[in-house]
Amino acid sequence: MPTNLEAYWMPFTANRQFKANPRLLAAAKDVHYFTPDDRPILDGTAGLWCVNAGHCRPKIVEAIQKQVAHLDYAPPFQMGHPGAFELAERLVKMMPGGHFDHVFYGNSGSEAVESALKIAIAYHRVRGEGARQRLIGRERGYHGVGFGGISVGGIAPNRKFFGSLMPGVDHLPHTHNLEHNAFTRGQPQWGTHLADELERIVTLHDASTIAAVIVEPVAGSTGVLIPPMGYLERLRTICDKYGILLIFDEVITGFGRLGASFATEYFGVVPDMVTVAKGITNGTVPMGAVFTRKGIYDTFMDAAAENAIELFHGYTYSGHPLACAAAMATLDVYEEEGLFANANHLASYWEECLHSLKGLPHVIDLRNLGLVAAIELESIPGKPGVRGMDCLQRCFDTGLLIRTTGDIIALSPPLMIQKEHIDQMFEMLAGVLKELP
Ligand code: PMP
Repeated sequence: MPTNLEAYWMPFTANRQFKANPRLLAAAKDVHYFTPDDRPILDGTAGLWCVNAGHCRPKIVEAIQKQVAHLDYAPPFQMGHPGAFELAERLVKMMPGGHFDHVFYGNSGSEAVESALKIAIAYHRVRGEGARQRLIGRERGYHGVGFGGISVGGIAPNRKFFGSLMPGVDHLPHTHNLEHNAFTRGQPQWGTHLADELERIVTLHDASTIAAVIVEPVAGSTGVLIPPMGYLERLRTICDKYGILLIFDEVITGFGRLGASFATEYFGVVPDMVTVAKGITNGTVPMGAVFTRKGIYDTFMDAAAENAIELFHGYTYSGHPLACAAAMATLDVYEEEGLFANANHLASYWEECLHSLKGLPHVIDLRNLGLVAAIELESIPGKPGVRGMDCLQRCFDTGLLIRTTGDIIALSPPLMIQKEHIDQMFEMLAGVLKELP
């Protein structure tokens, strides 16, 4: 145990509360974490929605160890290393339908989002439509913490301390509605029409000023908001009508979370860019990436003079050798163990177990898709988030890691999970919920 916790300024954490009562995770294996005194904690959140193959998988560990001893780093500007190209080729092949042909690397979901937004604006400019600069996000969207990401994002506390943010940003309404959709299994029926708000925004500003729309296919961080039936399809149709790029932020939904490789495949809707991170390396080495649809890369190549740099953007650690090696090994594990199929196979059992919580104290909604779920608790009047935090602490004390945003519990276990773990998870949760004041 560290003796002094003070110097570390923890992100997105109530520091004083945490430091008075620290919850430390000191080791991990497969679907468990272990506290410093070796108490197992069942990982109900795949770390932070990222450890999809389970923890400390030997193949991934060995690949990283081998890579760091062989080629630790190579500059990504004007130089390259084989692993970055091999991984990009493999990633575009993973995308269904052959719609995407290039991958741009960053180091996180936030960087993937900033990259995608910049590519969108620059894409229109190099095509001679430089007036298309406006970006449209969504209320309750989370797109990381860069200025672009918090601007298109729709979470008030993530925005309000940070000045005027990016100009020229609008937001679609979120799709969360308990009155119409509480306790829906899978995609809700109500809410498809909310996509038509895009028409209103287009009318207001004129299509010729709008670069892109960005949404999470399933909004994760703000409480697992499942898109209504036909909603994403309608966004696609409207974007096509007006020449607006559609970006799916698949930082959470990518790499098997819904039981398909990507949400794009699951919903059968093809956006123009897809941002990913997290599961791409199983959480081991930071990495983010943007997939671009056929034609986008070529547009940049065609517009720039020969020998000129086509896109003035990138990171010192874009396509880092360790991240590429980790990603290759991670994709091997996903494939060899059929983990996306396992998620798909378990989804209905997962749904049954989740909805067995209906009727327990404070539970006002249950939502699920693939291997992701939310349990929404009624807030204590005047004290939003207090009940959620109490629940998180009690789960941790019982041996289960959950994630809470306010009073919503989010669950997203490693995809290697088995029925017995799901049983344990919901048993522990039910026990905690029954006692929760
Ligand atoms: N987009 C989405 C949809 C996310 O869920 C997250 C992280 N939870 C991000 C972007 C940001 O990723 P990172 O924290 O790696 O910057």
